[in-house]
Amino acid sequence: MEGQWHIRPGAELCDVCGRVITDGSQQYALVPDSSAVHESASRFDGSRLLTGCDSVHLASLVREYDERPYVAAELWAGQITRALHAVSPASLTVAQLCEATGLSAVQIEAAVAWTNA
Ligand SMILES: [Zn+2]
Repeated sequence: MEGQWHIRPGAELCDVCGRVITDGSQQYALVPDSSAVHESASRFDGSRLLTGCDSVHLASLVREYDERPYVAAELWAGQITRALHAVSPASLTVAQLCEATGLSAVQIEAAVAWTNA
């Protein structure tokens, strides 16, 4: 993509120091994160893949996410935003939102309250 960093295929960036890792020595961890909503695949929602250049950097990231509260309403708000971005104009009824997100009306209400708080 234009204006973005160009990284060789197979290369990864450390999420802590930004070092480009090209020798395959990167380490990964999957952590719960209610702010993580995948672009299109809902099965990845609520988890974030972390990349570290070594075990020390990866562990410091995992610790950061461990301390971050997991708020379900935050995840639901992200899923609602994704559903709204998928339609034009960005407008859905509650029933359509339930259909598009798989959330209940109560969950949608909680997400709206969370967003407005
Ligand atoms: Zn690093």
